[in-house]
Amino acid sequence: MTSSARPFLNRRLAEFGTTIFAEMSALAARTGSINLGQGFPDTDGPEEIREAAVRALRDGRGNQYPPGPGVPELRTAVAAHQQRHYGLTYDPDTEVLVTAGATEAIAASLLALVEPGDEVVALEPYYDSYAACIAMAGGRRVPVTLRPHGGAFRLDLDELRAAVTDRTRLLLINTPHNPTGTVLTREELTAVAELAVERDLLVVTDEVYEHLVFDDAAHVPLATLPGMRERTVTISSSGKTFSFTGWKVGWVTAAPALVAAVRSAKQFLTYVSAGPFQYAVAEALNLPDSYFTALREDLRAKRDLLAAGLTEAGFEVFRPAGTYFVTTDIRPLGESDGFAFCRSLPERAGVVAIPNAVFYDHREEGAPFVRFAFCKQPETLREAGKRLAGLRKD
Ligand SMILES: *Cc1c(COP(=O)(O)O)cnc(C)c1O
Repeated sequence: MTSSARPFLNRRLAEFGTTIFAEMSALAARTGSINLGQGFPDTDGPEEIREAAVRALRDGRGNQYPPGPGVPELRTAVAAHQQRHYGLTYDPDTEVLVTAGATEAIAASLLALVEPGDEVVALEPYYDSYAACIAMAGGRRVPVTLRPHGGAFRLDLDELRAAVTDRTRLLLINTPHNPTGTVLTREELTAVAELAVERDLLVVTDEVYEHLVFDDAAHVPLATLPGMRERTVTISSSGKTFSFTGWKVGWVTAAPALVAAVRSAKQFLTYVSAGPFQYAVAEALNLPDSYFTALREDLRAKRDLLAAGLTEAGFEVFRPAGTYFVTTDIRPLGESDGFAFCRSLPERAGVVAIPNAVFYDHREEGAPFVRFAFCKQPETLREAGKRLAGLRKD
């Protein structure tokens, strides 16, 4: 058991004492449940990329402190990736910064760009580190809630507009969106961009699921829209794209002055990290298009498999256009409290999921929604479906 942080934790972080993931993973282990809670793949990324990491280690590349902004090979590969996939041109020397995963990129961006008291507008439900990082930066978070509309969680553009005040410093965007699986459309992103330009806001955009989009959904990087290149800090990472979540190699692309600001904060967080892995990720970014297509196809099939099992079990399924999560509504099962449901699910069905309410400030808005990860082997997803079938009401 982990002990409570409460007696010592400062006021800024008091509300973030423990995450649901620790509790749910412990519950999974204790009950022998299938863990569809935390989102990490149960198979590693490409063998040749693992070999590239081994080679770098053996050749003594990156075993000592790499350069603060990241090794040149990786910065060049990140810039080439932005060019190849989106037609965005970044200078590897002044407009790319390598970080310890997207997590550090988010933390460093907020610590660098937010003044105490500034408001940060973020899409709710949000990735759990956003709220904590805004708090560490002394900012005030202002959630704009995505709500179900036509089978997906959508952004209400009037609400977004209304959330911006004279104290707003930046918009914190995430697309493809965890936990809902929503991929913001070009129209939605254009409205976000117009608002940012009109109110002279910075935008930090978390695009770690950029390659995990399905069917006819397309990922549109905010930085490609008019007026955004110079005001957008784009964040991504190798964890989700290459199935190496333990390597913690992420990056920021932005205009030189923004990268310099983020680097100022980053240098006092980790300074540098993951030396040998940086070389391997440089190779990964240069993989041919067939790698990215196969990744997408594999996850689309897994999405369909889990979504079918969940539908069969009686959940309302919001079929995700991106990410490797599926959000469900438990009300058709006669349930309404996602926390209670997820705490009882391991005993009832031998499956672990996460209550979306943990990703909300307005907990009641998220109460009936529950998230399952599908970045798992097909047999595991099939077995989860079988176990959940017993929940069906009729
Ligand atoms: C997984 C995840 C991250 C963290 O990425 P790392 O590279 O592992 O630090 C950031 N944002 C979102 C939305 C994620 O799902």
